[in-house]
Amino acid sequence: MIPFLDLITINAKYKKELKDACARVIDSGWYIMGNELTQFEIEFAAYCGANHAIGVANGLDALILTIRAWKELGKLKAGDEVIVQANTYIASVLAITENNLVPVLVEPNPVTYNLDPEIVRKAITPKTKLILPVHLYGQISPMQEIMRIAAEFNLLVLEDCAQSHGAEIDGKRAGNWGDAAGFSFYPGKNLGALGDAGAITTNDDELAQTLKALRNYGSHKKYENLYRGVNSRLDEIQAAMLRVKLVHLEFETSRRQQIAQKYRADITNPLITLPLVTDELAHVWHLFVVRCEQREALQKYLAALGIQTLIHYPIPPHKQQAYTEYQSHFLPITELIHQHVLSIPLDPTMSNEAIEQVINALNGFNA
Ligand SMILES: *Cc1c(COP(=O)(O)O)cnc(C)c1O
Repeated sequence: MIPFLDLITINAKYKKELKDACARVIDSGWYIMGNELTQFEIEFAAYCGANHAIGVANGLDALILTIRAWKELGKLKAGDEVIVQANTYIASVLAITENNLVPVLVEPNPVTYNLDPEIVRKAITPKTKLILPVHLYGQISPMQEIMRIAAEFNLLVLEDCAQSHGAEIDGKRAGNWGDAAGFSFYPGKNLGALGDAGAITTNDDELAQTLKALRNYGSHKKYENLYRGVNSRLDEIQAAMLRVKLVHLEFETSRRQQIAQKYRADITNPLITLPLVTDELAHVWHLFVVRCEQREALQKYLAALGIQTLIHYPIPPHKQQAYTEYQSHFLPITELIHQHVLSIPLDPTMSNEAIEQVINALNGFNA
């Protein structure tokens, strides 16, 4: 059996370091908002090249709280429009509607799955205030063009970096392009905690201070509340786990890139469309997503060979029960993507033998 992602093996590599870090927290007697979080925030901000990182409870909260902070600072208000690609994971859209802003779902570029600057430009109205590029599957969006459009129309940019830790363009990493960025450290993400965790990165001092208050009841100072905040803190145990795993992230990313390169070189079946890569360092391969018109048949065939695959994602946000008002939107590129995509195993701990097995299986598929 080749699992889609083997979290046991991934974390077993760092078992001793993780257990030591865990013990350090247990023995400290300090479990929330302490040294581990402060250090992780410094280390993760440095990794991204940003001035600030603010730890929160999960990736969804990172996005929700950033939009909320901009509302508190008077930069956004209810009813403002936010441009986001329609083929994203639902969290990107939930962050917008949770704040009573209006998602404007646009078709993605059909080969990169990311925002297409020309389509973004056409979707701008006088109500547009924010662009939310999701660096989907691990490939960073065309940020130079997106930032140029944002400057031209005076729009904010919030990167959804939940799948793209470390992806870069011209040496500048995801999370350091927009006005702010939301990260998830869900266990299966490229940088995964051993539970829920998330963070925001930004170079904006005022935004960072506002976020630090919002995640902790709206309080800058104990028992004084500036905002009606929430409890969305990243606890010391998870911060300590993340500090261990951050040290190894570059190695894991380069292993993902090697495996992806091998897949791209050796999978040659004309029934299967491989992902397009804009630049080798632009993609950190959170997912290796192929397209196939006979997707269901391919998935069954691979399952019979013991190869586990997943679909990211079977139903786009505008077709979800949660968003009935968007059901009639005409988004044919997005809908076709959801019918054709299949994510094949890509795990930094995969053996060369398993990689060969996946390649041979895909090459042997004939519908
Ligand atoms: C995982 C993910 C999120 C949400 O992260 P959580 O930590 O699970 O809340 C947001 N956006 C995208 C694109 C994701 O893949």
